[in-house]
Parts: sequence; C-alpha cells; structure tokens
Amino acid sequence: MPFSPSLPTILKLSQHNSWRKQLAEGFGDIESLCRHLDIAAGELPVIPNGKSFPLKVPLSFVECMEKGNPNDPLLRQILPVQKELFDAPGFVADPVGDMAAVAEAGILHKYQGRALLVLTGACAINCRYCFRRNFPYSEVQLTPQRQTKALAYLNSRTDISEVILSGGDPLLINDEKFATLIQQLDQIPHLKRIRIHSRLPVVLPARITPGLLSCLQHSQKQIVVVIHANHARELSRPVEQACRELKQHGATLLNQSVLLREVNDSAEALCQLNERLFAIGVLPYYLHLLDKAAGTAHFNVDEQTARLLMEQIKTRLPGYLVPKLVREIAGAPNKLTLC
Ligand SMILES: *Cc1c(COP(=O)(O)O)cnc(C)c1O
Ligand code: SF4
Repeated sequence: MPFSPSLPTILKLSQHNSWRKQLAEGFGDIESLCRHLDIAAGELPVIPNGKSFPLKVPLSFVECMEKGNPNDPLLRQILPVQKELFDAPGFVADPVGDMAAVAEAGILHKYQGRALLVLTGACAINCRYCFRRNFPYSEVQLTPQRQTKALAYLNSRTDISEVILSGGDPLLINDEKFATLIQQLDQIPHLKRIRIHSRLPVVLPARITPGLLSCLQHSQKQIVVVIHANHARELSRPVEQACRELKQHGATLLNQSVLLREVNDSAEALCQLNERLFAIGVLPYYLHLLDKAAGTAHFNVDEQTARLLMEQIKTRLPGYLVPKLVREIAGAPNKLTLC
C-alpha cells in the first residue's frame, strides 16, 4: 500500500523539514554573504573562509541586517575579522573553566540547586565573541548512554530543583528526542523547573514548531526559556511570533545578552533592546561582561564603562527592564552580580 500520510502528519513533516532546511541553507562563506548584503568583501578586514570556527549564519538572522552597511551590529557578531588573530593578554582558551567537566559527563553542576545539561555541541550560528569558538566540541552528543547517566544523577540529587538545558544549542536536537527527554525529566519528583537556554528563537524562529510547543505545554514542570538577543534589530516579526507562541504555551521568557563593543555598548542600544524585548513578551535577565576567550578581545567593554552604561540606562528604563550586569568567575558559587 502506498504511504499516504494524514494532513497533520504532512504539516508536521513540512514544518520539521523547514527549520532543518533553513539550518542547512544558512550562509557558510563570506563572499556569498557579502553579495547578499551588497557589501564589497574585498574592502572588509575579513579572515578568508577557514575551517576552524568558520562563518555560519542562518538567512533569517541575515535578513535583520542592514544592506550595504559593513558596520552593522548584527553583521559584526558573525563576520570573521582579522582582529580575532591578535593575541591579547588575559584572553585564554577556556576562560570559565568549563570544558573538562562538560566533556566528561554531559552535565555541569556548579551552582546550588541547578544542574546544567549539555545536550549538543552544535549551534545554528557561530557568534564570534563566544567562548565556544575555541571548542567546536562536536563530540558532545546526547548519546543514550550519556542521557541515562545524567538522569540517574538528577534522580539521585534531591537538592536539584532546576535543570538547565544548554549546549551548544539544546533546541538543535529534534522534537522526538526533545519530547523524550522532557518526559523523563517530568518523572523526577524533586524537579520544579526546566530552563532552556537557546539562541534559536532569535536566530532561527522556525525552530519553534507546533511539536516543540506542544511538548513544552504538556510538561509537568514549569518551563523557563532564556533567549539570547544582543540588539533590538534581532527581534524581527518572526522572532516576535515565536516568542508569543512560547508564551502562549506556558513558558516564562527571559533574555540574556553579552555586552559587546560596537554592537550594543551604548545606552541608546541597550534601552532599545530592553524596550523591544518587553514589547515581544520577554523580560531582561542578564547582561554579561564578555568571557575573555582567545580571539574576542576586540569585543571587550571594560568594567568601568559597563557600570557607567548601567547607570545611564537605569535613569531611562523602568526597574524591571534593567538587566543585571554579571560576570562569570571560575570557581565562584554563583555568577557575580556587578550591578
Ligand atoms: C550560568 C549557569 C547556571 C545558571 O545560573 P543562574 O544565575 O541561575 O542563571 C547554572 N549552571 C551553570 C554551570 C552555569 O554556567
Ligand atoms: S553558544 Fe550561543 S553565543 Fe555561542 S556560538 Fe552558540 S549561539 Fe552563539
């Protein structure tokens, strides 16, 4: 008998394929990206297409960039430039000391009550400022063995009330795997919350599929989704729609950003970002000082400037739209809140 899928199945398949397809069709070379943006690649101080941490960006994110502007704050986040090759004192391979722990167990238990699960090493986008640039850790995969181990650990530790799904990008795993994991977490009585840290609602909003939404809605636990946007212009209509859907399906939405030189290091840019976040139903959570990963020094905003910016935005925004300025210190019992 020929395979004749029902209409809902067809819809599900096409939506599923659509984000996978968009992911596969993202830009991977500088020439074609520049052509798309009407920018002369020859005039930019780029690093030619290389193998380690290459250019990678989905079309949906590129569509938010301004054509013809080589200084676009979104373009800066993803364009490989020669400044990355300069050595800078204090900028090291693994600034937060995470890698050893991650690679071994797939679970990071640094802070009281919260355990972080590394679901995959993959991301939909390569952000130049990310500490992950030095660890394209594709060997970190959610193997059944790893998952069994992680679940056993979570079950045994009754002091853990929140599981954080992270990566890479945890929403890059498919709906079926994701649903299985959520169901398994649902079985752990002492867990109260499942928190998902993902950049996909922003850079690939098509990932927020009906299948994923229904899985979140049916979870027994409270769901928190922490998105990652650095600039108001990243928050397009499709991103707004994705956030609306997440919210309608019961998720609490927060945002974390990284303070980045010549991307969002002005009071104006930060105010616009936080206003726009609220407009789409998201509350600001953290504004991170840059983790000092090798190759990212040109993004650094020093602490004094950061504090000054915070003072400025505090005078202009309601208190609930001011994120906490934080820095991660290896070995500390929590992220350090500066103001
Ligand atoms: C950031 C982080 C958390 C969460 O910290 P919050 O301050 O609760 O957002 C948990 N575990 C690890 C390993 C982290 O890096
Ligand atoms: S982990 Fe987040 S910041 Fe780093 S490359 Fe992936 S999406 Fe970008």
